[in-house]
Amino acid sequence: MSTNPLYLCQECVKDNRLKLYYTTTKIEKNKCSFCDKVHERCKNIDDNDELINLITALIRYHYSEELYNRHWGGEHLNVLLEVENELLEVSPTEDFEEALDVLICFLGNNYMENGNNVDLYYGHDNEGTRGCYFYSIKESKNHFLQALENDLLKYNYFLYEEKVNAHILPFMQYYEQNLAAGSQFYRARIGYHNRTSTEGFILPMINYFPYTNETIGAPDTKLVSGGRLNRPGVSFLYMATNVDTAINEVRPDPGHKVSIGTFKSTQDLRIVNFDKAFLDLCVTEESLGTFTSLNHIDQLFSHPITKDEREQYIITQFFADIFRKQGFDGIQFTSSVGSGKNILIFNPGHFVYVKDDVNKVYEVAKLQYTVNRLP
Ligand SMILES: [Zn+2]
Repeated sequence: MSTNPLYLCQECVKDNRLKLYYTTTKIEKNKCSFCDKVHERCKNIDDNDELINLITALIRYHYSEELYNRHWGGEHLNVLLEVENELLEVSPTEDFEEALDVLICFLGNNYMENGNNVDLYYGHDNEGTRGCYFYSIKESKNHFLQALENDLLKYNYFLYEEKVNAHILPFMQYYEQNLAAGSQFYRARIGYHNRTSTEGFILPMINYFPYTNETIGAPDTKLVSGGRLNRPGVSFLYMATNVDTAINEVRPDPGHKVSIGTFKSTQDLRIVNFDKAFLDLCVTEESLGTFTSLNHIDQLFSHPITKDEREQYIITQFFADIFRKQGFDGIQFTSSVGSGKNILIFNPGHFVYVKDDVNKVYEVAKLQYTVNRLP
């Protein structure tokens, strides 16, 4: 049976925090129990408390317990994970469901066997009362930061800098990450440099040439109006960890042509990374609570802001400034429109444009919206 022992390969992992775990911990070549393929980058899940705890915490991150606790009317966790989900890629192999059963058994036993770990469920049979994590971690708010959001829309931001620093500085070791020199990210700009037309077999062939170098780099300060993280007249370098996210983040319309440029860091940089904080803090219920508070800031950065709500930028610009003054070179944060992450660099001079095969012009074929009904 392929599920004994249980292996999970990096290809089968979808969540960005899980991917980061694979790139920062020891991996081995083995046959993945989920996709049934031999893979260079596998991890054994049996007795791997760290990974079991991480997957448990990720279920809590993405889903409200209502969805997976049958006591509260939810489906069995298998039902949630055997179709397209936020954590794992679903393989059409016979072994997938069997491997999933074993994994879910590990997750269920996680708290029971070691009460210091992260728990999948809020309450337990033997405690009489049963609670429920009604909010996923990614939807949970921190009261202090919620009150601050209101204050920042009324009073000058600098009145709050000291108070906010005192609130988050004790956790700096968790959200700080070294970004090695030579790290590559992608930047998109709607439009293209030019196009040429050559004779084709029946119709003329049109070749598109993307913006390159400074035409796809951070704009001059005099051209910058306020953005999500930058105040007017301040030019930051916005990039993404993959092409898809970079394109989606410039909010193109169907039919738009979009240029992609690749940028590489010229020195080691120190960035804020909420995924790294998650890996460090998904250890106990208490530490996961600390992460949940910090994650409120990532939510602010990633939450879509419409044109009529631009005053909300005051809040995100405030936090960008807080981290810049803490000595960081940039911030990596969640994208609400792409599978990758966004990365913002305060000094665009820390990155240079580099040639890459993905530096092309892309056409937006269609946009897909996901709607949630509000209460
Ligand atoms: Zn696999």
